[in-house]
Amino acid sequence: MDQGPENPAPLTRLTPDEALFRDSVAQFARQEIRPVVREMDDQGRIPRTLIDRFFDLGIMGIQVPEGHGGAGASFFHAVLAVEALSAVDPSVGVLVDVQNTLVINALMRWGSDGVQQRYLPKLAANSVGAYALSEAGSGSDAFALTCRAVEAADGFSLSGRKLWITNANEADVFIVFATVNPDAGYKGITAFLVERDAPGFAIGKKEDKLGIRASSTCELLFDGCLVGRDRILGEVGRGYKVAIETLNEGRIGIGAQMIGLAQGALDHAIAYTKERKQFGKAIADFQGVQFQLARAATELQAARLLVYNAARLRDSGEPFVTAAAMCKLFAADAAEHITSLAVQLFGGYGYVKDYPVEKLYRDAKIGQIYEGTSNLQLQTIAKQILGL
Ligand SMILES: Cc1cc2nc3c(=O)[nH]c(=O)nc-3n(C[C@H](O)[C@H](O)[C@H](O)COP(=O)(O)OP(=O)(O)OC[C@H]3O[C@@H](n4cnc5c(N)ncnc54)[C@H](O)[C@@H]3O)c2cc1C
Repeated sequence: MDQGPENPAPLTRLTPDEALFRDSVAQFARQEIRPVVREMDDQGRIPRTLIDRFFDLGIMGIQVPEGHGGAGASFFHAVLAVEALSAVDPSVGVLVDVQNTLVINALMRWGSDGVQQRYLPKLAANSVGAYALSEAGSGSDAFALTCRAVEAADGFSLSGRKLWITNANEADVFIVFATVNPDAGYKGITAFLVERDAPGFAIGKKEDKLGIRASSTCELLFDGCLVGRDRILGEVGRGYKVAIETLNEGRIGIGAQMIGLAQGALDHAIAYTKERKQFGKAIADFQGVQFQLARAATELQAARLLVYNAARLRDSGEPFVTAAAMCKLFAADAAEHITSLAVQLFGGYGYVKDYPVEKLYRDAKIGQIYEGTSNLQLQTIAKQILGL
């Protein structure tokens, strides 16, 4: 049957191209990432040689047009990649997610021709990107940011600090939000592109985290960092729009990270419960265990449908903001429940680092925090359903 408005396809049906892409990323994750997950978590870093493989595979420039050296694929492809990677390592999942759904997405939407020509080919070929909005005093209330941009000779001079910036240790290009006029409130916020080696810019302390430990999260320090006028993303004073609209899309990627890691945990739990014997039989033979697994699989599928729906709405140009908030909210909760169940079903073995579920349990918590906490997603959904 033809797909179209009259005959919409099931959400989980993938086109041959989507299925091939998802399977190749999943195979790569199993073969090249899985063997080093424990080591990366212990060391708190993703080796550059592995990041280079992400570039080789084409997953660092998924939506970048082919003319700029990218894969020219859809946002949905990015979601599939983040899901497949996160089933093996959610730290890798978020590195690829920030690159595609925040940085590249923002550049494609708001970058001038010059900005796109300068940055998109690099991002697709070998440069990692980061997205710097949060500060010590401004998280959920992101537009209370105080990082300052003062007009200078041929651009702006940036001063201040950013906190919690994912990919900061690996990134060559940073999207940085600063205000050109604190009195103007959110209307002073402007998005700038800052390169790693810009004078007056330094990477600060790296956070020692509960989960996604291999993903770098650092402070950024700006002290009179000069940024040319041609490195403004969008317009002066319109950075709030760049921030809101990019995060609206980006949080679908976090939903994908959460369903990927929940799938990983569920797969481990299914395999283990079929092997582990107590009372003379596999623990998966107990109905109490079967029902727990069945509930988890149902919850995961519901989360996946929300994530895929939000991504497909976004790709078809339809309103998706509430769907994105719902998918992240629900997928993060599902990931927390399912990874907790996986630890439970492993018993004592679930509580130690020799088995993978302990890490996935730690990794899951971040889904309720970054790119808008769960309360902020509820706020977005409430606004829409109550017409506020
Ligand atoms: C590992 C990690 C990676 C990150 N990566 C990035 C990144 O790459 N770029 C970036 O810019 N930021 C990043 N962040 C920052 C992240 O987006 C913020 O931590 C998040 O937005 C929450 O802000 P906050 O930490 O200041 O918490 P707060 O805003 O202080 O919130 C604290 C609590 O209060 C609740 N709360 C706040 N306001 C309300 C309200 N109005 N109604 C109800 N409840 C409310 C929140 O839900 C939360 O539970 C990252 C954070 C972490 C931990």
